Amino acid sequence: MKPVIAWFRSDLRLADNPMLAAAHDSGKPVIAVYILDDVNPGIWKQGGATRWWLHQSLAALLQKIPLVLLKGDASKELLKLAEKTGAEEVFWNRCYEPWAIERDTKIKEALKKKNIEAHSFNGFLLFEPWEIKNKTGSSYKVFTPYSRACHERGGIRPPAGAAKKINFAKADGLSLNDLGLMPDIKWYGGMAEFWQPGEEGAHKRLKRFAADGASKYKAQRDFPAVDGVSRLSPHLHFGELSPHQVWDALSGKVERAHDYLRQLLWREFSWHLLYHAPDFPEKPWNKQFTKFPWKKDKKLLRLWQKGNTGYPIVDAGMRQLWQTGWMHNRVRMIVGSFLVKNLLLNWRDGEDWFWDTLVDADLGNNAAGWQWIAGCGADAAPYFRIFNPVLQSRKFDPAGEYIKKYIPELKNLSSDYIHAPWEASPLELSAAGVTLGKTYPAPVVDLSESRDRALKAYSVSKSAA
Ligand code: FAD
Repeated sequence: MKPVIAWFRSDLRLADNPMLAAAHDSGKPVIAVYILDDVNPGIWKQGGATRWWLHQSLAALLQKIPLVLLKGDASKELLKLAEKTGAEEVFWNRCYEPWAIERDTKIKEALKKKNIEAHSFNGFLLFEPWEIKNKTGSSYKVFTPYSRACHERGGIRPPAGAAKKINFAKADGLSLNDLGLMPDIKWYGGMAEFWQPGEEGAHKRLKRFAADGASKYKAQRDFPAVDGVSRLSPHLHFGELSPHQVWDALSGKVERAHDYLRQLLWREFSWHLLYHAPDFPEKPWNKQFTKFPWKKDKKLLRLWQKGNTGYPIVDAGMRQLWQTGWMHNRVRMIVGSFLVKNLLLNWRDGEDWFWDTLVDADLGNNAAGWQWIAGCGADAAPYFRIFNPVLQSRKFDPAGEYIKKYIPELKNLSSDYIHAPWEASPLELSAAGVTLGKTYPAPVVDLSESRDRALKAYSVSKSAA
């Protein structure tokens, strides 16, 4: 019997995987394939941290099923595989990156010409980005009415289990190491300690969060020293879990899950924005920002990237990112605001750095997060609302526990000074073993001056637009 192809992409799971279930239901032998495509994404090919994750996640999947691994332009590789194996049908779950939509449309046409049927499904989002529309038939630009429309629409399907006894067929492919996903320099030790990529790790985290975290989410979610968020983002990004599984585990089953489910709708909204504005990762949504006078300063950018700005909460966040491949959402907002407002560097620089270093780097969420914090996105924080990193730090990390964890050189400073070491007297600094400019950097900019400079730049660009 001729086989069918089940093409894994952002859905590295067996349970609740619509394309895999449909391939199995065809009754034919199933060739499962993953293709590492660094050709079609252009500048958005996967970054260092996501490549590390991908390697681990594929390794986990390979333990369960005979997955064929290929590398190259997926539009060519998939066709070659279909021709070689005589497959008559191909199944996949839809991806919504603009480059993926373009590529997959071409692939569908090419397969059709060869009489191979392509079937696509939704396994990545709760709602298709084109489904949720306002009364005039346009897409939403503001989150609250968008989320209301999602609730009104409802109908989120319950997740399906894993298909039993899939008749997998084998085909020639590469070894996992041949994909070359692991870096030569072993910088990933902290990440390996922190995460368990793969479907099993994803379910463990979801189970733990549903049991212990979800009902306390609203109260705890803003405090980076507390284990108060789900940390499901990389699992959702790689599709080791479907949003339907998360929704189902919490909705109506866990008290006060509403606030958490709202965040899942932010994820939907981000992808909805990207679908309707394919240049969203590169261009400001609000065209008023097209000529914003961003500074170009590689040295400042490097200090920010490495967590050496002299602002402890900013530096702790950037070091958490470097060590674990993830950063708490509150701190993402603080470091983002600091980059674009206090340092006046382009949000695209921040977006690129996150793209390379986050294990959850995700085209929709990352672009939306950066445009939100830069004030140029749809439904964004207004540019003139500038986070004060010291006040944010005092409010959300009052005892400085988060700072101490990632900046141990400040661990002996009292909570009065840990948020702003430059305010401590020389005596207090020396008692804590801190020498500003030596053991820990002095602030790279003055907060109030840089704030005024940002507001001036904003008013100039506003009047020029
Ligand atoms: P939880 O608080 O437990 O939330 C649950 C899930 O909801 C998350 O896993 C995520 O899928 C989704 N979610 C939560 N907050 C948001 C949000 N603001 N926007 C969209 N979806 C959200 N998230 C990414 O997944 N990838 C990114 O590349 C990314 N880049 C960001 C860049 C900036 C500048 C900012 C401010 C935010 C970014 N976010 C990104 C959103 C958010 O910070 C992360 O989703 C969240 O911190 C992940 O941790 P968690 O899974 O514990 O989240």
